[in-house]
Amino acid sequence: MSAQQRVALVGAGIAGMCSALALSRKGFSVDVFERDIPPPDGGADRAFFDWNRRGAAQFRHPHAFLGLMCSLLEEHYPDLLDDFFAAGARKVSFDQMVPPHLQDQYRPEAGDEKMWVLMCRRATMETIFRRYVEKQDNIRIVNTTYVTGIQTEQRNDQVAITGLELTDRIAGNQKSIFQADIYVDATGRASKFGQWLTAAGAVIEEEREDAEIVYYTRHYQLKPGVDEPDRHKEDPSAGDVGYMKYGVFPGDSGHFALIICLPNAETELREAVKDEDRFDAICMQIPGLVPWISKDRAEPTTPSFGIGEIHAVWRSFIKDDQPQVLNFFAVGDASARTNPLYGRGCSTGILHAHILADTLSTRTDPIARAVEFQKQTVEQIRPIYDASLREDKNGIRRADVVMKGGERDRAGSLKKWFGFAFGDALAAAARYEIHVFRGLMRTVNLVEKPGAFLEDSKIRRTVFRYMLKGRKKNGQARVQRGPNRQEMLASLLSDQE
Ligand SMILES: Cc1cc2nc3c(=O)[nH]c(=O)nc-3n(C[C@H](O)[C@H](O)[C@H](O)COP(=O)(O)OP(=O)(O)OC[C@H]3O[C@@H](n4cnc5c(N)ncnc54)[C@H](O)[C@@H]3O)c2cc1C
Repeated sequence: MSAQQRVALVGAGIAGMCSALALSRKGFSVDVFERDIPPPDGGADRAFFDWNRRGAAQFRHPHAFLGLMCSLLEEHYPDLLDDFFAAGARKVSFDQMVPPHLQDQYRPEAGDEKMWVLMCRRATMETIFRRYVEKQDNIRIVNTTYVTGIQTEQRNDQVAITGLELTDRIAGNQKSIFQADIYVDATGRASKFGQWLTAAGAVIEEEREDAEIVYYTRHYQLKPGVDEPDRHKEDPSAGDVGYMKYGVFPGDSGHFALIICLPNAETELREAVKDEDRFDAICMQIPGLVPWISKDRAEPTTPSFGIGEIHAVWRSFIKDDQPQVLNFFAVGDASARTNPLYGRGCSTGILHAHILADTLSTRTDPIARAVEFQKQTVEQIRPIYDASLREDKNGIRRADVVMKGGERDRAGSLKKWFGFAFGDALAAAARYEIHVFRGLMRTVNLVEKPGAFLEDSKIRRTVFRYMLKGRKKNGQARVQRGPNRQEMLASLLSDQE
């Protein structure tokens, strides 16, 4: 139907490449404009260490590629997955995620096959993805080309984009205009389209909530001959010690990364993680991290580095049921952004790409397209955004209590007490009961709407049974072994003396 329709897509990040692929499979021809240089020739290490990727600030932070993303890739682009594996990416299937103490309860069930994760560095993923996209007949990628503005015209009640202003970074910042039938914003977290469209008269509403955390990363590589530690040991490689969250992200070729996530208010710890030695000193106090980074096992390959502006952002391009812009669609982070701690952005990015391709291939009227795209975005992506926001708010509240030296979840009302008690019981039940673990993992992997597993009566009954064990006992399932806040702060002070 749409063989002649030309799409100008801005941004060759994750959502951009997924959108280009999904649209090309539906018969659209796609021109992708990307401000950065293409991946360097060579393998994953060159991409990781040498690729200047200033357009995607999170590029060198580790990424988890969850079940939603992996199962969509598997369904639509199985040959791309082969390319990832050939480049060193690994598949971890659901049965491998089941901890040893639950293995005897485990029986495969329909749906388990969707819950698998891909482990590799984002640099590896992007490089292979880009090379695959470049090979498609009806996709053209134009690198080192900034989109620096838009041309618009008013059509009745809507603003329509009629062209993109391109600035060629190589050819002396030469400017030109590019015209297409459809314009897609995949420029990520720093998108300027909202400002440009607002200046042109559209009403673009933005919700923005600060997660009030800082996020620090350091990369390492296992020494030759050293095997990856067992992730199922008693002390897990990812967890929460109350005042700090931590996690190991295994990558490809023996590379892995550690992240530390702190509330904004933890000023001493925030200062400390900026320094690579103190970052390591903090990690070495967490039992689950020691087998990874002790000096005889691994070597750091980067300093520690952080990223700011951890916000949940939702942009709406329809106001009072009226589309504000025609022939324009924002996908991925340019439309909806969630806290990276949950590892959801790439999964929602590919989901959004497929929503866009389905919408554009089944409708031709510009208003119908805008309405349907917004409807599907709200139906399929908003629940994920809302769940992430709720988790952010809980995190902020808990951090505040810990800072004040109080109990993590002190309840001010019966309703709140019930909520906390249910949460603790769920954490404990997921640890010891395979059906609850599986349900929780379905939510973690976004293969169903967040929390949908709680509608299962068997799971609910189990969680209520755990509630009877009491909050104190259940609460232990949430917090991992490690020094308490005072001990950690004291150790930092003694290190400086
Ligand atoms: C610290 C951190 C860790 C994360 N960890 C995870 C994780 O574990 N799992 C997960 O799924 N998600 C994670 N995310 C989220 C994930 O990175 C994003 O959701 C995802 O990259 C969004 O894809 P995108 O294509 O919308 O944006 P991006 O991937 O950021 O791509 C945007 C692209 O647009 C280009 N661009 C920008 N402006 C212009 C312009 N004017 N002209 C031309 N090109 C332009 C950029 O160069 C870039 O290539 C993390 C995010 C952060 C910040």
